Amino acid sequence: MATLSSEITLGCQCGKVTGNMQREPAASINHISCYCKDCQTFSRHLDADAITLDEHGGTAIIQTSPATVKIHSGSEHIKCLRLGPKGITRWYAECCNTPIANTMSSGKMPFSGVIRSFVKTDHVEQIIGPIKYRVFASLSPQANGHNKAPIGLMAKIVSNMLWWKLRGDHRNSPFFNGVTGKPVSEPKILSLAERKAASPS
Ligand SMILES: [Zn+2]
Ligand SMILES: [Zn+2]
Repeated sequence: MATLSSEITLGCQCGKVTGNMQREPAASINHISCYCKDCQTFSRHLDADAITLDEHGGTAIIQTSPATVKIHSGSEHIKCLRLGPKGITRWYAECCNTPIANTMSSGKMPFSGVIRSFVKTDHVEQIIGPIKYRVFASLSPQANGHNKAPIGLMAKIVSNMLWWKLRGDHRNSPFFNGVTGKPVSEPKILSLAERKAASPS
């Protein structure tokens, strides 16, 4: 029997942006689905809800170190936005509006939530395990998840991030300049009208 490759291939829908995720120990990766309104607003703003959201509005996300995300081509198409003046930075491929990842607003804190719409490998569950946490699911009771983010998950994110920071991963991200911590492309801030137009409710 052929063994499945443990390589995770990344790419946008049109194929201009390509990359891969290097293997981290599965224990330091969180495979989650987020049902919050903001994640839905992001996908809907890009008109990418069909390729991103599950039937209950969840966005499947692989939380890992940005240093494990390698872009091979098309980095000039990688852009970002924010739903408001503050908050997380949301990255996408502007060539075809494929959601790519969420990060903190500064690159000094190494964290990336790679969105499954940017993952090409079909058998990703066999590599990193199934979705373990369904967070902010109060809007979607059918999703059968947590109301917010459980404390265990939050603790794991913080301890992973501190470890990645010690390891110097913030200097090695496809999304931020390794020296200044500034995003590689200027975030577009959505207007209130744009945000409202894309909001699920
Ligand atoms: Zn594309
Ligand atoms: Zn969310």
